[in-house]
Amino acid sequence: TLAVVLFTQDLRLHDNPALYAARAEADQAVPLFVTDPAIAAAGFDAPNRRAFLAGCLTDLDASLRRIGGRLLVREGDTVEQTARLAAELGAVAVHVAAGVSGYARRREQRLRRALGDRLRVHEGSLTAVPPGAVTPAGRDHYAVFTPYQRAWQQVGRRAPLPVPGPLNTPTGLPGADVDSVKPTAGSLPAAGESAARRAWQHWRVAQYAQLHDDLAADGTSHLSPYLHFGCLSANELVHLAERRGGPGAEAFVRQLVWRDFHHQVLAARPAAAHADYRARHDSWRTDEAEFAAWQQGRTGFPIVDAGMRQLAETGWMHNRARLVTASFLAKSLYLDWRLGARHFLDHLVDGDLANNQLNWQWVAGTGTDTRPNRVLNPLAQADRYDPDGAYVRRWVPELAALPGREIHRPWRARHRPADYPAPLIAPESTGVRFREARESLNGSQ
Ligand code: FAD
Repeated sequence: TLAVVLFTQDLRLHDNPALYAARAEADQAVPLFVTDPAIAAAGFDAPNRRAFLAGCLTDLDASLRRIGGRLLVREGDTVEQTARLAAELGAVAVHVAAGVSGYARRREQRLRRALGDRLRVHEGSLTAVPPGAVTPAGRDHYAVFTPYQRAWQQVGRRAPLPVPGPLNTPTGLPGADVDSVKPTAGSLPAAGESAARRAWQHWRVAQYAQLHDDLAADGTSHLSPYLHFGCLSANELVHLAERRGGPGAEAFVRQLVWRDFHHQVLAARPAAAHADYRARHDSWRTDEAEFAAWQQGRTGFPIVDAGMRQLAETGWMHNRARLVTASFLAKSLYLDWRLGARHFLDHLVDGDLANNQLNWQWVAGTGTDTRPNRVLNPLAQADRYDPDGAYVRRWVPELAALPGREIHRPWRARHRPADYPAPLIAPESTGVRFREARESLNGSQ
């Protein structure tokens, strides 16, 4: 017997329920990845992620070959390609990880129609706790983080699955070589499961509790691209972290709970990828020049510009900087969060529908923040999380000569660099537009 494993966002051998079950069910397993033009058509095929994905597939193929397999890559509509391959090979089953987005859900429904009961969908592959596994009384998902976290802690942990035994993939199957998925972009982190496991080994989780909010220390794990493509399973990471223990590991697991939280929101409300989750704002301003200045890291607020330039140069941004730059766009400039979320998705290697859109909504006050009216003051944030200005100095080199905290307020400096812009809005008024909009919104209700 033979089973097909359709890889999607689970590009790994360790703790992979679909791969493991396929091997357990059949004598032979055929690992398949489909490059689907629908992803590009939906605008999700950003160059940084395409390049990273190519590296993930190369690594996956190499690892599969070590256990007697090989990755088959086909191009076209995922459902058509998968069903055709299953028919060609007389597959007894097709195994796939359950997804959370509307797109993934529709793909699953179509696979079900094409394959009937030969389709096996595996929950618990993308997140540590599957969406819907815990719910509050009378609701289909948690809308508030803290009670979700409490419920999450009570869920029994699934032991991580080992790499399966020999796959015995038949040779000579028609399909493109893995190298056909060509990388297109430059200096990104090493991709794939092997690199992900090395990254975890070399990173020091023990320091996470102290360092995770310190912009210059850059003490977070940088595992987000690997988690997005499933090179590491969130479930296994929780196990690994809990085995190490201590405040660092605890704080790290909490971030993985945030990831699960946003995934269960999106799974229950796929429309939250583009529509306000709590439908409360429709008065966003439009201002192309301000938006362009934000995109380019030329707002005149050094902490904001540092974050935006880190994103442009590396395809990644520190979480604290994501909060500050997003708040600046949505609340200080009062521009639609969707514009900012789109820009992030165009550049982030870890760009992820659940984490990106729902964090943006959280910051914009349209999402799950229980204090939706708070506005982050970029200067207070800079003083607190980049006290020596080292983060700004790294990413905004034209300000590097300004000493200490002065770097955060170049408009006050005696020798302001001529090539750095004046602040886009008055530095003391970064909360004004949002508050005024809130007041007129409340007034009209
Ligand atoms: P670590 O601090 O080491 O955390 C470990 C893992 O926990 C991360 O890799 C991530 O998977 C998860 N995590 C951490 N913080 C969050 C969070 N707030 N929400 C959900 N999961 C979290 N994360 C993405 O993976 N993709 C995105 O597209 C994305 N967009 C964001 C947009 C905005 C406006 C904000 C405020 C946050 C966004 N995040 C996103 C969440 C977070 O900023 C990144 O996950 C984190 O910075 C990645 O770096 P790290 O792997 O070193 O994180």
